[in-house]
Amino acid sequence: MLNIANTLKIILEDKPTFRRKQIEQAWFNTAINSYNEITTLPKELHEKLKDIPWLSLEVHTNLKSQLDNTRKILFKLHDNNFIETVIMGRKNLKQKQLSFQASSEESQSDNLQRFLPAVKMTNRDTNDDRYTICISSQAGCPMRCAFCATGKAGFKRQLSAEEIIDQYRFSQRLLAPEGARVNNIVMMGQGEPLLNYDNVKRALNIILENSDLGETKITVSTAGVVPAMEQILKDDNFPPVRWAVSLHSAIEESRKQIMPSNRKGFLEFLVQWANDYHTKFPSRTHFIGLEYIMLGGVNDNEHHLQALIKLARRMPHIRINLIPYNYIGDEPVDNVNYFARTPHEQIEHWHTELMNAGFTSTIRYSQGQDIMAACGQLQNTIKI
Ligand code: SAH
Repeated sequence: MLNIANTLKIILEDKPTFRRKQIEQAWFNTAINSYNEITTLPKELHEKLKDIPWLSLEVHTNLKSQLDNTRKILFKLHDNNFIETVIMGRKNLKQKQLSFQASSEESQSDNLQRFLPAVKMTNRDTNDDRYTICISSQAGCPMRCAFCATGKAGFKRQLSAEEIIDQYRFSQRLLAPEGARVNNIVMMGQGEPLLNYDNVKRALNIILENSDLGETKITVSTAGVVPAMEQILKDDNFPPVRWAVSLHSAIEESRKQIMPSNRKGFLEFLVQWANDYHTKFPSRTHFIGLEYIMLGGVNDNEHHLQALIKLARRMPHIRINLIPYNYIGDEPVDNVNYFARTPHEQIEHWHTELMNAGFTSTIRYSQGQDIMAACGQLQNTIKI
């Protein structure tokens, strides 16, 4: 298969930059489906571009959840690596909460039980009005967080800006015939976006410039890469998207245990960073999300809760997102890699305490668990 990013780069190298802009603009027009159809380009360029596929990703498998309106697309890249994109349709909050309550009652002992339908969706429900796509920034991931499936298979390579953008373009084209569109992008798929700084930045800028999505509709999630976070504060060309930081513990030793990438002093750094970030973007829409997976017996006792409240109080404009742990496949494999879900009542307790402490807090209901499309489950698996 052709390396489209490289081929385009070579073809456009000696062309005026507005040619690239014309192409980038056309990429996002769902009525255009080949380089030939870009009428503003000269004949000579059409000739050079005529054999280049319109998307740099090839669909390998397209899975649809039986539980909710979630699709997971497994894409094959030009060098036979794979990535995943998750397309999530959401009805409304009530539906989500119902689903969460039902799924928390699953028996954890039975392999099939855990994927039991949360709340069965009726046909009427599948016509969701809002779509969020979860896109990947790397093939695989080098971070090796203990609870996440993506890191288990290791790191394959960085995605090009085109490969990042094309996950959005593919989704646009998938939803357009249904009269739907992508409302939000979360960069929470495979990979650590801040380890692919330049390509992620270019992809975000191109999407923002050419699509109908604004900065607050895009959330980039990071496990915390200190040099890159420092650079963002100085980089005026990094778009002011929303940030989510995968915290998972406000106690350094327990964070280090589950996130080996944790650098000593990270939590102190994070407090400073959040304050500096807010100074740079004082708007209330630039809140920082703190992501916290509730891992039974690991990071979910009272001591952890108090540590979280104490840390969060030192950061302006944050939101705390509690995430029920999603099983990542074959547990229990061994004692090291096995995590249990924090009971629903305990998550509710944290939620209430965080609200009482004055924070905005949400509980994330993960969609698409039957097709391994939920947070942390992206490992190029196609089993159901
Ligand atoms: N590397 C980035 C982007 C991936 S985001 C990051 O770590 O933020 C993936 C999100 O899913 C993060 O919030 C991550 O912590 C969460 N996650 C990973 N494994 C999970 C699991 N097994 N259950 C629930 N959430 C998980």
